Amino acid sequence: MIELPAGVRDIAERLSHDRPAYVYDLAGLAAHAAAVREAMAGVELYYAVKANPDAEILRALTPFVDGFEVSSGGELAHVRATAPGVPVAFGGPGKTVAELSEAAGVARLHVESPVELRRLIALGDGPVDILLRLNLDVPVAGAALTMGGGATPFGMDDDGLRECLQLIEGEPCVRLCGVQAHLASGLGAPELLGLARAVLGRARELGRPEINLGGGTAVSYTDPAARFDWAAYGAGLRDLRQEGETLRIEPGRAVTAYCGWYLTRVLDVKRVHGRRFAIVTGGTHHLRTPVTKGHDQPFVTLPGDRPDPEPTTIAGRLCTPKDVFARDVPAALAPGDVVAFAMAGAYAWNISHYDFLMHERPEFHYVT
Ligand SMILES: *Cc1c(COP(=O)(O)O)cnc(C)c1O
Repeated sequence: MIELPAGVRDIAERLSHDRPAYVYDLAGLAAHAAAVREAMAGVELYYAVKANPDAEILRALTPFVDGFEVSSGGELAHVRATAPGVPVAFGGPGKTVAELSEAAGVARLHVESPVELRRLIALGDGPVDILLRLNLDVPVAGAALTMGGGATPFGMDDDGLRECLQLIEGEPCVRLCGVQAHLASGLGAPELLGLARAVLGRARELGRPEINLGGGTAVSYTDPAARFDWAAYGAGLRDLRQEGETLRIEPGRAVTAYCGWYLTRVLDVKRVHGRRFAIVTGGTHHLRTPVTKGHDQPFVTLPGDRPDPEPTTIAGRLCTPKDVFARDVPAALAPGDVVAFAMAGAYAWNISHYDFLMHERPEFHYVT
């Protein structure tokens, strides 16, 4: 059962008949972030901005995080303007010379390859604090996406690492602070702790104090009530940590997914060749998440339960059969009803192709 927060319900009840809306529950986000902060005591918590860079969200998170992790010059400039003074880490494959130059001295740089390191050294700035991004050859079972544990464009294997260590030797422009590893997304606490053990084993051979274990804390779209076990992850990392080490994590999705709602109204209900469809204002060009991840986006409807729900496919207004939020899900919808899609706070609006078909953009509301 999904609970619609009171402030979100107020907006849903007044929703436009033409235009969908995003609602970010900043009060709910702050409460969640405070709980994560507490569970992760003793571990530095950075938020991966690419999950949702909305300025109000960054401001709401600022009291609870040690920093922000960015993956582009655009995110770097945005974070520095929105949350001045908050520490920043800059990761991601393929940084341009301009990005390296903007980040040098203002962010921890996660170096992805020997080519990137040479480019950074050639800038002649410094000393720049860097972490080397590891791609460890460890099995990553049960992950939603894998960024490591084999041949991927992310980070370095032992050969790349060795080359970087040679480049760094006696080089005044860079200061090696430690290593970073973001090996997979969508993992539970036991799996992440298993990876952490492998990363720490390798990191300690380098003898540097900072170890950034990446993000990847799981979110379940099929079971919205199931939550990542932050308490177990925090306790596990405190156990693993050795004297003098700084452990850092940089989750995105599991921080902001739950605070976002995408509200739409039902425009049409029809049966086509035996299948029931509800067509809503907006579409997956505003909320691409269910298409990219291949799930049914969880939702609540207003007014509440009508009698006799039947399997219904909830589709948007795009002229493509891919524009589907949920397939054959039990619902009893009528034109004018509101469908409030939950878990739309991460990798939702900001990954969506909203200019396709030139529909109006949604409204944005913030519940404080
Ligand atoms: C995307 C990403 C994250 C955040 O991953 P989530 O699955 O959203 O927690 C953290 N670090 C890096 C390097 C990333 O690319």
